[in-house]
Amino acid sequence: MNDGQKRFDQRDIPSFLPTWELLAMLAEECCELGQAALKVRRCLDDLNPTRMTFNEALAKLNEEWADVLLVIRQLNIIDQPLVYEIMNQKHERWLNHLREHEKGETDHGQEN
Ligand SMILES: [Mg+2]
Repeated sequence: MNDGQKRFDQRDIPSFLPTWELLAMLAEECCELGQAALKVRRCLDDLNPTRMTFNEALAKLNEEWADVLLVIRQLNIIDQPLVYEIMNQKHERWLNHLREHEKGETDHGQEN
């Protein structure tokens, strides 16, 4: 284990909080991540200006992503190899969908 891994090793947290509380925290942090993503989107165009700068919004997005990952790390119910396998499958499906759309062959019944 290197220094970076030791610094973020929070495996003692589940001994303080039950899984159901960690799941509630995950939902809370996912909502905050979504809000941060929407703020970055607002910074990208001037249709609905915000006082937050793009860099501030990006910093918040990174912070919320870290919060989500931190909570997920505590949940021993997440199967990380399976998650990567699903991500790879969905990435390929999404890319194919975009390619088909570009060629005018979109099937609007599929979801990512
Ligand atoms: Mg947060």
